[in-house]
Amino acid sequence: MERKPETICVQGGYEPKNGEPRILPIFQSTTYKYDSGEHLGKLFDLAVDGHMYSRISNPTLACVEKKIAELEGGVGAMLASSGQSATLLAVLNICSAGDNFVCSYSIYGGTVNLFAATLRRFGIECRMFRLDASDAEVEALIDERTRFLFGETIANPALTVFDIERYAALAHRHGLPLFVDNTFATPINCRPFDYGADIVTHSTTKYMDGHACVVGGCVVDSGRFDWTNGHFPELTEPDETYHGVRYVAQFGSAAFITKARVQLMRDLGAIMSPNSAFLLNLGLETLALRVERHCRNAEKVAAFLHDDPRVSWVNYPGLPDSPMHALAEKYLPKGSCGVISFGVKGGRDAAMRFMNALRLAAIVVHVADARTSVLHPASTTHRQLNDEQLAAGGITPDLIRMSVGIENVDDILADIDQALR
Ligand SMILES: *Cc1c(COP(=O)(O)O)cnc(C)c1O
Repeated sequence: MERKPETICVQGGYEPKNGEPRILPIFQSTTYKYDSGEHLGKLFDLAVDGHMYSRISNPTLACVEKKIAELEGGVGAMLASSGQSATLLAVLNICSAGDNFVCSYSIYGGTVNLFAATLRRFGIECRMFRLDASDAEVEALIDERTRFLFGETIANPALTVFDIERYAALAHRHGLPLFVDNTFATPINCRPFDYGADIVTHSTTKYMDGHACVVGGCVVDSGRFDWTNGHFPELTEPDETYHGVRYVAQFGSAAFITKARVQLMRDLGAIMSPNSAFLLNLGLETLALRVERHCRNAEKVAAFLHDDPRVSWVNYPGLPDSPMHALAEKYLPKGSCGVISFGVKGGRDAAMRFMNALRLAAIVVHVADARTSVLHPASTTHRQLNDEQLAAGGITPDLIRMSVGIENVDDILADIDQALR
């Protein structure tokens, strides 16, 4: 029976047997012990299931992976050391030098650096489209070396909502999978697989951990994409590094996620530590509860800012007059996220004075944890750009990004009000 998300958050992934620890144990072990050399040989041939070495898999991580896969409705998941490494491993799983992929402009800045600068140095080309581009304009970017489409459910920091069904249909018309970064929505507010996405990635550093204590990432496989359509030989043809294993033939619907682990995680080693996976799991236990509170608080803060004459504009997908409202109603009926961007009257100087005057909300380079925080991109993450360059990137000098926490919303509103004053 399919369980509800709140139940999976608390009970998923780890089911202790009679007399075993009630709480997920931390298996702080690099190594596993075998009764025979033959058994280990079979593990190395991928002929039997089991752990070989903690650079590839670990029992603590396996439980957290199972929980996240169940939350997203996928067949399997793989934890990584960061959101960045999760994205990288997902891309490299089906891309080699000479290949390209098609990607929304409206994504996290760190992902843009990875895609447009670093992957380019490895011969993998990212072709970007604006969300107002027509289907025909997006399809014109696809050629015989295109391997997938990529977008973000709710983009960080633009807060645009990705029309998953539309882009899944477009990708599938060309025999390509759709990858979706679901970090800001979390599976509590949106499950991209329900709308046709094939692979989901996460920075678990954000709401999943939710306490700003562990950097991590995750790749989740829907198990529904047909890799045998001729475009994906790396999943259908023999892998010589495993004595000719064919991933689809041997692992069926879990081919993508199995290959990502046994081949790429083995070779690149961007694994999460068991201790971090334990902390992430504690965060996941309260994910449904926290996301709900983040959304209710952010909705009230967005409405307050929207009605305040000292504020020049507010961007929040949950606001009724947001250009994203229709997409938010469709994909995010329970709420969008806790992140809001807005401008204060008086431009850059007023934005700085406002931020310096906040007492409860702290200035940090992070979003999506329990504590309310703010960041002024024009003077920090984008400070090397002049006002003209900022405008081209959609960042106005007065833009403040606020990540609304789970404190009492009256205290958050009072803080904003006194700082605006
Ligand atoms: C933070 C973030 C990432 C990168 O994750 P790290 O855990 O910081 O490596 C990727 N995507 C989105 C949407 C993010 O917000």
